[in-house]
Amino acid sequence: MAPKVERFVSPGKGNGLRATASIRRGELVYSADPLAACVSLKQSKNTCHHCFSRHETLLRCSQCKMAHYCNITCQKQAWPVHKSECKCLRSILPRIPTDSVRLAARIIFALGSSEELYSLEEHESHLSSMSEQKKEGLSQLASMLQLYLQQELPTLDQASSSLPPSCRDPLCLMGKVICNCFTISDGELQEIGVGLYPSLSLLNHDCGPNCVMVFEGTKLHLRAVKDIKSSDELTVSYIDSLELVDVRRKQLEEQYHFTCTCHRCNSRDKDVIMLSGEEAAWRLFKDAMPRLDGLRAESNWQELLNLCKRSLSTAGDDVPDENLYKLKMMDAAVDACVQLGLWGEALAFGLRTLPVYRLYFPDPHPVHGVQLMRVGKLQHYLEHVTDALDTFRQAFEILKVTHGDTHPLTYELKMKMEECRCELNQSQ
Ligand SMILES: [Zn+2]
Ligand SMILES: [Zn+2]
Ligand SMILES: [Zn+2]
Repeated sequence: MAPKVERFVSPGKGNGLRATASIRRGELVYSADPLAACVSLKQSKNTCHHCFSRHETLLRCSQCKMAHYCNITCQKQAWPVHKSECKCLRSILPRIPTDSVRLAARIIFALGSSEELYSLEEHESHLSSMSEQKKEGLSQLASMLQLYLQQELPTLDQASSSLPPSCRDPLCLMGKVICNCFTISDGELQEIGVGLYPSLSLLNHDCGPNCVMVFEGTKLHLRAVKDIKSSDELTVSYIDSLELVDVRRKQLEEQYHFTCTCHRCNSRDKDVIMLSGEEAAWRLFKDAMPRLDGLRAESNWQELLNLCKRSLSTAGDDVPDENLYKLKMMDAAVDACVQLGLWGEALAFGLRTLPVYRLYFPDPHPVHGVQLMRVGKLQHYLEHVTDALDTFRQAFEILKVTHGDTHPLTYELKMKMEECRCELNQSQ
């Protein structure tokens, strides 16, 4: 694929990527393998550390007991990358470094092999604009990195000449990793790891972007969700766009060190509707959010569902479904019901979220596509086959743009649609 992208200096934003030809909505703009990637600790037992596919049972590295693989083939292919890492992991057992530290080490082991639009040397670390508190956290990670690497590289200075000067300072390297790494997610948008994709670090943020990133294993696909003219800047959203302007700006400032001045932020687009209804009524939902996140983190599904039902029956009728906090509550209720096997209830909550997702995602978005697919699966399971087919069709309209025709998730969706058609034919 001759990429239709080039780097340029974006006014007020520094480096960026822009189109060198017109790009149609749904087109694959760029694909990239990571310079380095690692499975997140939380998913390390059910995600292959080589190909990043997920399985219930995996083969475990007998030496570090941390790395897991689909089979012997994946383990063998992973060994050149895992060899140094395995030694480091064993040296500090039972401690296991954070995802960002393990990624930084993998970057060091991988350096010297990359040819990118944007070198690691050029990546921003934002050390100079960082608060003292953040720097403190970063220096703890840097110390961990040095301890972790001790067996293989007693000092980063002694590392091979392939290590660019700015990466020999552990603090600076950790800063670059934290500010530039991408979260790798699976088809259902579950986070499974982190990776560094140097050329795509050039992409700037917009809360209403013209591109999205989806993963296939560790391969990153950049796809257009709007028609893009030649020389237009390409943008993605670094964060969850289902948030109020002030929340988005704060997160971007803290994590990425810039203030978003995109069209959506400047016009405060959707803020009013996200806060629709009387505050006295939706306050209850907003105040319940920390508790809701806590119960979700504990996988306490029954308690989570009770909280959602209680809140929705107390204040639900006074707050429109478009209200952001009510939407989050209904989403949490779907998750809880699915976990508890309450399919009918899950479907009822899921159906109510769909018009709201449509409102908040006017452009095709993976989150919207995946939500439709979830609801479609519930309808199918409950034998509402005509409805299921209709929902799957809506999901397909989105996924063919955001994921493309050959992505495994799109393939799964097509199979589901085929199953529905067969069942409908048989029943006629
Ligand atoms: Zn594998
Ligand atoms: Zn190992
Ligand atoms: Zn913005």
